[in-house]
Amino acid sequence: MTIDTVGFDADDTLWHNERYFHVAQQRFHDLLAEFAEPHTTEEVLLQAERRNLMLFGYGVKGFVLSMIETAIELSDGAIPASQLQLIIEQGKELLAHPVELLPYVPEVIGELASTHRLVLITKGDLTHQETKIATSGLADLFWQIEVVNEKDPATYSRILGRHSIDPSSFVMVGNSLRSDILPVLDIGGRGVHVPYEITWSMELAVAEDHHDFVSIADLSELPEVLARW
Ligand SMILES: [Mg+2]
Repeated sequence: MTIDTVGFDADDTLWHNERYFHVAQQRFHDLLAEFAEPHTTEEVLLQAERRNLMLFGYGVKGFVLSMIETAIELSDGAIPASQLQLIIEQGKELLAHPVELLPYVPEVIGELASTHRLVLITKGDLTHQETKIATSGLADLFWQIEVVNEKDPATYSRILGRHSIDPSSFVMVGNSLRSDILPVLDIGGRGVHVPYEITWSMELAVAEDHHDFVSIADLSELPEVLARW
């Protein structure tokens, strides 16, 4: 079956995201330097993020709360309120960061919008995601936009079902094997992996060779991949 609907992840697929988190995390390590080694801070923060994911979901707000929790834990409660304030400010900065599109994004999305139905599927803070979508200048090119809590097979099945999309005519394009590719292969769709310069530890995964899955260096290669299918 030929592909008629193309799903796109947003963060680190259409625009930069993880690099800002990375910078925030480096600053957080510096902030806690008097209490812990950077690798300890990194580890304890990751544990907090894992623990909190079910409660806060993905996105900046959960990240900030996990940093605060980590700071309190590693300082044994001695962290001054002024430093907690810095962590909160850091989070606000992350939320206010302008959207920076990745290479080839406007051209390729513009081109494909005339030949395919495009669906944006992204997870994270609802308000933040909606703001980014609105300011990206791309919103009108998408047929459907879905902000979800988790990207698992059930979520993809629900979205495809709601819009009457046959999984065998659907391909998902994204930077995360774990969230964008594997669950879609699982329900009978196809995947195009476009790795980003950094992968968040929680998104790490490996994919075995699969005939419905390809990896490309950047979005400029996407139209050709779709034409081949
Ligand atoms: Mg992503």
